[in-house]
Formats: sequence, structure tokens, C-alpha cells
Amino acid sequence: MGPGAAVILRRRDVLGAAGALALAGCGDPPEIAGGFVGTHPERGHALRDATARAPDTTRRTRVLIAGGGVAGLAAARALRLRAVDDFALLELEDAAGGNARAGLMDGLACPLGAHYLPLPGNDAHEVQDLLEELGLRQRVAGRWIYDERHLCHSPQDRLFFNGHWQEGLLPLEGVGPDTLAQYRRFGARVRELMAQARFAMPTLRAPITPLTQTLSAQTFAHWLDREGLNDPHLRWYLDYACRDDYGAGTALVSAWAGLHYFASRHGFHAPGEGDADAEPVLTWPEGNAWLTQRLAAPCGDRIHTGRTVLRIDMQKHGVAVDALDHATGRVERWLAERCVVALPVFVAARVVQNAPDFVRQAAQRLTYAPWLVANLHLRAPLRDRPGAPPSWDNVLYGSAGLGYVDASHQSLNPRRGPTVLTWYLPLGDDALAGRRALLDKPWTHWREQVLADLSVSHPDLRDVLLRVDITRYGHAMACPTPGPQVSWPMLEGRLHFAHSDWSGYSVFEEAFTRGHLAGAAIAGLRG
Ligand SMILES: Cc1cc2nc3c(=O)[nH]c(=O)nc-3n(C[C@H](O)[C@H](O)[C@H](O)COP(=O)(O)OP(=O)(O)OC[C@H]3O[C@@H](n4cnc5c(N)ncnc54)[C@H](O)[C@@H]3O)c2cc1C
Repeated sequence: MGPGAAVILRRRDVLGAAGALALAGCGDPPEIAGGFVGTHPERGHALRDATARAPDTTRRTRVLIAGGGVAGLAAARALRLRAVDDFALLELEDAAGGNARAGLMDGLACPLGAHYLPLPGNDAHEVQDLLEELGLRQRVAGRWIYDERHLCHSPQDRLFFNGHWQEGLLPLEGVGPDTLAQYRRFGARVRELMAQARFAMPTLRAPITPLTQTLSAQTFAHWLDREGLNDPHLRWYLDYACRDDYGAGTALVSAWAGLHYFASRHGFHAPGEGDADAEPVLTWPEGNAWLTQRLAAPCGDRIHTGRTVLRIDMQKHGVAVDALDHATGRVERWLAERCVVALPVFVAARVVQNAPDFVRQAAQRLTYAPWLVANLHLRAPLRDRPGAPPSWDNVLYGSAGLGYVDASHQSLNPRRGPTVLTWYLPLGDDALAGRRALLDKPWTHWREQVLADLSVSHPDLRDVLLRVDITRYGHAMACPTPGPQVSWPMLEGRLHFAHSDWSGYSVFEEAFTRGHLAGAAIAGLRG
């Protein structure tokens, strides 16, 4: 940094960033580069425009996997592990991984979507096996130990609340006794419900009961109102938690979903009660792409990217799958014995010819939350406000966004340097408007939104920001809105359905288990 810059910094301390730039004679702040990355909405829309076209080529494989998100990759792994090597996976984007892919900004890896995995419980034993296979957990003297390099380093999370950073995400500093009492009451209700019903993850391991159906039939906001849980700080926190996991807040998601967030993990702990520490999670600079890249690598050239699956046609002796290869413009026909439909349900309902009733019903019932993810490349760390130190997850109270995670957080280098912050914006509270905005607004609109949002806690953001890459997800994830709980069949003839949508909400454990079960079922049919 040159001496002139040092002068600017000192003045900034007094005047704030904008005043300093004007005084330094800089005029308008420098333009910040960026653009849209990671997704190709037009490839998905190719489905809408596709008229039945005769294939240009025909290829054969034993198992065709349509869709290369976590579920599709888990199906591929299950086949590989059971020595079924004759499979092909078709993926629309340029890399497999779906919502769990990585970006790169000037050599720094960052997530384009999913960024962490809580330590899986015993219901998610397939995920536990994967973590063992990847060396992330091992049994030492009869206990499971996780590799500390991949567990989120401390400090894990903080909240910008009342102009100050506090540790943890539950608003605490300066809240009154009524708020604390409501925290305790909510925690007690979660414990009671955990004793009355099973909240398993993956959900297919929990029975549907009258109690879970009742919770599923109403919004979380309605349930909280009836319980008299109306403290604004508690309600903000619960709304944040729902937007974080489901892409929409308490007014839209079901009470079952709102409670499942806590009850399927370690409950809700009010301050001073039980283990109030943040739940341990696995995370990496590139987010869950660390996992999907390791799932994809052994598949080698059996993964075919840049392909939109247009039609899946179950025939008497096999399945015919037509896909548009975007590099060549040609339509390939794949003939397979079986097909894993690892596609979002609304896509499956469109491409599966004469789709079974349950697929059409599920597609009608599901609503999807759009999401936007912004990766911000910073040339230097941000200056910090008083309070808790920079953490992996940094959330702003009352913000439309969910805050940001820092891709350098897991670095063992004590000197903080250039980094990438990943900012998340769920748009499920008004999904139609959100989806339209994702298509219509230029990337600079989102750049200004992220700047406005984060400048509340980091007024110097604009000065250190080099680039903003925006990733748009029009139908990012199924949103668990009220409605009857259904245990959908996973099989129709030669078609095996596997995607997190079938769980009604989207996390790694749901997608992976469903993909794994599909692959294992097909391998089990062998011979
Ligand atoms: C912004 C964001 C953040 C998230 N953060 C987390 C997190 O931190 N932790 C967590 O556990 N979960 C997170 N999730 C949830 C995440 O969706 C799941 O963890 C998981 O990645 C879902 O995998 P999937 O296979 O079910 O679905 P998808 O990821 O939806 O996979 C479906 C795949 O099918 C492909 N496809 C679609 N149509 C076609 C077609 N016609 N032809 C060919 N291919 C097609 C898609 O490109 C995609 O690759 C996040 C999701 C989003 C959007």
C-alpha cells in the first residue's frame, strides 16, 4: 500500500468511505467488475422449446443417470461400489454437482451454492459411510472422530445486532427477560415434540404420524402464534433459520419444517441451557463441492456435461433417453436397461413420457424457492466493527440476505489476505417475483443489493471489492409449504426416482440417501 492510500485510510476513519473518496479526488468510486456465472438458464429453457426431434446418434449403456447433482452422483457411487461400471450420467451444466458446485475467483475457491454439512446422525448412515470413505471420520478407540481440518474452525458464527457483532446467531446482547423466557419456552416445546414424534434426517426414516401431519398442515408462523411465541427476536431468528434451510420464512413453510430444522438435529438450546454452542459442521473453501468433486472424479468420462435431457421414454425392454448436447447442437439417444431420474421433480414431470400419476401430483404440489448467491472477491480483509471477531458465518440482523461465509476461514495461515465472501439471498417468500427478477435484472442490480446489504456492517466493502460473481437458481430447492405429508414411491418400472425434491426440502443428506438407494437398488437387481 502506498503512502497516499495510507492518508485516505486515516481520513476514512473520520469521514467514512464515501467522503474519503471525494476528498481524495477520486470522483466516482471505481467500477467493480463481475457478471453472472455458474448456471445456464437457457439450457433449462431448451426443454420448453424442444419439439420431438429425431436423434442424430444413438448410444448404449446399462444404467443412465439423468441429472448430476448430489443425488445423481450418489447413485453413480452406489453403482460403482457394487461393480456396476456400465453407466452414463447426463448433466445440464458444465460440471456435475448441481447446487453443490464450486467457483474460482483469481485462484481462490468458493462455493456457488451449498457450503456446509452438519455431522450426520445415525439415520444418515449412508452419508456417514461416505465421510468414512473420504477420510473425514474414523473410529478411534471406539469413538468416531472427525478430521479437524474439515470441521468448521472457531469462531463459527456471529450476528451483527444493534450496531455490534455478537457471538452466535441468536440475538442475545441487550435483550430483555421476556425474550429469554420465550427462548426457553420454544426450546422446551421442541424437546416435547422430539419425545412425541421422530424427526429423522433423511425424512424417509421417520414415520408419518397424525402429529407430524397436523404440524405439516399449518404454517410455522401460525403454530408459533398459537403457542404465544411472539417475541420479535425469537421470531426473527426462526424466520432466518427457515430462510437459511428452506429458502422461505415462517409465514410460508410448514410448522413441521420449522420444527424439523431443530428437532432433526440437536434441538434448540436457550442461553444457559444444555449445549448452547454452535453445532459442529464440515466445511471447505469451495463448500460442498469438496464432496461432489470427489464423488464425480471416479466416474471419469462416464459423466457427460452440457446435456439437457429432453425426453425419458420407458419402453418394453428398456429406456430411451434423448438429450441435447449443447456443444454440438446434436440430439443423442441413449438406450439403457434402467434410468435413475435424478432430476428436480418439475423437470421429471416434463421429460418423463406418460409420467406416472405420482410424479405429476408431486410436481403440482411442490413449490420452489429461487436463490441468488454472490461471490465477492476482496483484495484485503474488511475492517471490523467492535464485538465478536470475524467468523465463518456472519449474519446481519434484519437483513433480506442471510449474511456471508468467508472462503478463507479454514485457512491455517494466520495472516488474513485477499479472500472471497459468499453472500446468500433466498427469494422464496415471493417466488414468482424472485424468479422474474433473476431473469430480468442485470447483474449490476444484484451487485448494488449486496453492497447495500453488507455495507451496514462493513462500510469499507466497496473500497476492497474487486469483483462480484452472481449465480442464479430459478428453481433452487423444494420449499416445504403446508400440505399433507406423502411417502412417494421411488420406482416405476425401469425408472428410479432420486432427488432431494422427493423429501419436500433440500439438504445434502436427503439428496445423497435417495441417490444411494436408487443406485443400490439397481445394482441389487443384477444377475
Ligand atoms: C444456494 C443454495 C445453498 C445451499 N446450501 C446448502 C448447504 O450448505 N448444505 C446443504 O446440505 N444443502 C444446501 N443446499 C441444498 C442443496 O440443494 C442440496 O444439498 C443438494 O445439493 C441437492 O442435490 P440434488 O441432487 O437433490 O439436486 P440438484 O442439485 O438440483 O441436482 C439436480 C441436477 O440435475 C440437473 N438438471 C436439471 N435439469 C436437467 C435436464 N433437463 N437435463 C440434465 N440435467 C438436468 C441440474 O443441473 C443439477 O445438476 C443449498 C442449495 C442452494 C440452492
